[in-house]
Amino acid sequence: MRKSIEVIRGNSPGTEWRLSVLTFEGRSADAPRAYLQAALHGNELPGVAALHMLIPMLRDAERDGRLRGTVTVVPHANPIGLGQHLFGEHLGRFAFGSRTNFNRNFPLLAAPDPSALIDDAASALAEVRLKALLVRLSLGHELVLDLHCDDEGLSYIYAPAPLWPAMSDLAAALGCEAAILWDKSSDGAFEEAAAAPYLSSAQDAAAGRVVSTVEFRGRADVSPDLARADAEGLYRFLVARGVLVDDRVAPLAPYTAVAAPIDHVDMVAAPVAGTILYHVRPGDRVAAGDALVTVVTAPGEDDGAVTVTAPQDGLILTRRAHRFTRPGDNLLKLVGSRRSATARPGALEA
Ligand SMILES: [Zn+2]
Repeated sequence: MRKSIEVIRGNSPGTEWRLSVLTFEGRSADAPRAYLQAALHGNELPGVAALHMLIPMLRDAERDGRLRGTVTVVPHANPIGLGQHLFGEHLGRFAFGSRTNFNRNFPLLAAPDPSALIDDAASALAEVRLKALLVRLSLGHELVLDLHCDDEGLSYIYAPAPLWPAMSDLAAALGCEAAILWDKSSDGAFEEAAAAPYLSSAQDAAAGRVVSTVEFRGRADVSPDLARADAEGLYRFLVARGVLVDDRVAPLAPYTAVAAPIDHVDMVAAPVAGTILYHVRPGDRVAAGDALVTVVTAPGEDDGAVTVTAPQDGLILTRRAHRFTRPGDNLLKLVGSRRSATARPGALEA
């Protein structure tokens, strides 16, 4: 394992961030290369915990000569968001200085040419330079995984529709309960930036390629057992793709859980402000008209609560971690079998 440090110049004199990059050198030039990063949203730690367990497994494989393809790991992909606390709350989704989502507006390259990316000397905010750096680090890897999580949720992945079902082995290896397939745009998420230089060129350049935003359940689902299970899932995937060799790992069973286009996801929003009483949890199956959430606006009074029902049959994918909602805020994601009446282009959330 080789460790290198990328320095991100701060937005003011006297500050900087340091990003660790771990490289495990593969022995076979024709094997696929893998890139894994975690916590691009700085307060989403299940992926960090999984990498904590996976890295020793990669070191063993490298030491034993079982590593065929080079693996690059960035355990804390966003040191800026990792350090953002406001009055004791860890807020890692948006950059404080510019209100931008750390996982939107990545540079989309027409070809895998790093010279088209800005470097750290550029006249741009640190979060913009960080995005260019992460794209640069991911270039040249056939398998690119960006490890996130939801508020509360199942394990699921996002995949570019052109790569599905060719990359359904990832969902099988990770034991996912859903795969959400996006097309056209994800508002410049890292996943889109990692895929763009290859998907826009010849079809054969996309062969064997895997690019995914992996959602490892919810923000509080961070424990030794879950970390080990997620690391083993990532390891199974790397074995299945020939990045490393391990005879103890059984072949993957086919993926048989939900795979749905992104416009089949209903983002169920709160009609009013109030205290959230969930009637469902991630993993529940519901029918159209079933009660999902009661929002309490005037406790105990007549007409003091509003109940939101399921717009279609489906699977509850996620729900929020907070229990007070404002009007219009999202309450949960439901993945159904038909297009959501409120579907819109781009990513599901801002
Ligand atoms: Zn995220």
